[in-house]
Amino acid sequence: MYNELKEGSMHQLYESMGISDKVYQYGEKTLEKLKNRFAQIDQMAEFNQLKVVKAMQDCRVSEACLLGTTGYGYNDIGRDTLEEVYASVFHTESALVRPQITCGTHALALALMSNLRPGDELLSPVGKPYDTLEEVIGIRESKGSLKEYGISYKQVDLLADGSFDWEGIKAAIHEKTKLVTIQRSKGYQTRPTFSVAQIGKLISFIKSIKPDVICMVDNCYGEFTEAIEPTDVGADMCVGSLIKNPGGGLAPIGGYIVGKKECVENAAYRLTSPGLGKEVGASLSVLPSFYQGLFLAPTVTAGALKGAIFAANLYENLGFKVVPDGSVDRHDIIQAIEFGTPEGLIAFCEGIQYAAPVDSFVTPEPWDMPGYDSQVIMAAGAFVSGSSIELSADGPLKPPYAVYFQGGLTWQHAKFGILKSLQRCIDRGVISDI
Ligand SMILES: *Cc1c(COP(=O)(O)O)cnc(C)c1O
Repeated sequence: MYNELKEGSMHQLYESMGISDKVYQYGEKTLEKLKNRFAQIDQMAEFNQLKVVKAMQDCRVSEACLLGTTGYGYNDIGRDTLEEVYASVFHTESALVRPQITCGTHALALALMSNLRPGDELLSPVGKPYDTLEEVIGIRESKGSLKEYGISYKQVDLLADGSFDWEGIKAAIHEKTKLVTIQRSKGYQTRPTFSVAQIGKLISFIKSIKPDVICMVDNCYGEFTEAIEPTDVGADMCVGSLIKNPGGGLAPIGGYIVGKKECVENAAYRLTSPGLGKEVGASLSVLPSFYQGLFLAPTVTAGALKGAIFAANLYENLGFKVVPDGSVDRHDIIQAIEFGTPEGLIAFCEGIQYAAPVDSFVTPEPWDMPGYDSQVIMAAGAFVSGSSIELSADGPLKPPYAVYFQGGLTWQHAKFGILKSLQRCIDRGVISDI
């Protein structure tokens, strides 16, 4: 039955969805070489799946936890238990996991603003942080920034080879340095993404210079790509978005902060109000999606990782520069492919859009997005608006015309999207032969 499917109707179905035999075969040829790596990813998913289930069992998640509260949300057993589950998964004293945290930037801003006081200094030892944090910190002038509250900022850039500037970091730490922010994923930069082990080394180094400094990790896109998280190697706080990895594609909104009790408490008093903290904040009807999303997150992340590795190998073989390259270990789910021409970038994004379950019939176009100095093209046909754990791609229309590709709720869908992108590149004449 399976062989019949594979040889016969699978082909036909792909063909009926616009994938030529040639593209399909090219994909299969690429996949042949990835069997071992995919097996390793499956093992990672197995480990993380057990970790999540164990946390849910240890915290005695019950049917009652799936019911929400309204109004003030006092005694919200589902919300409080979910926070225990997160703390257990990340091996931390405490957690704040809320739909009232609107996105990743909000979660990061909350963690920073609640743990820094006027006169303190924030240090980034890994170069420029994610774009949206520039306004939070006040690197770009902005209302309500940390800078406006008298909190200063220092940055130590990575060395040319992408490694930490140990001496520069040592020199940058002084008595005002209160909090260090470390971004795990490269985001939209070309530096490598850090492994949890590398982050651990950096934290140990910083703590050896100043033991009481708070080390925070921006964990966006990194969750469940490894068997350990930054909180396992000394991070005092880890912060992320629920419409990326840990929401498993089901969470419709939300962010999390896990870490030391005091750090999380500070964040809770800032999110709600002094005196109220974690005690208020109704969960309304989001809890089933938060629980089930976390339950699915290890396998969803594994599917996205397979998609990233497949895309890297496919396009690398065709002669394009890909970051990271097809062979390296992964610490996040983002894949960059440099097309060198606007046509290539646009064709890739069109292919991803045409593969979507939602809005597959629309054609993405470059537009002038606020805050960017060039036009940007985005492909996303997602169940949750803006969700980037779902199959999505985007890139600025400027050299090197790199597309940033991520997500895929299932590996099978990521595969289809990547084949569709290749097909579109061929149909548009961006790639002449495979
Ligand atoms: C996505 C992301 C953010 C910000 O998250 P939003 O939900 O888009 O606000 C911050 N840092 C990194 C590394 C990210 O990938």
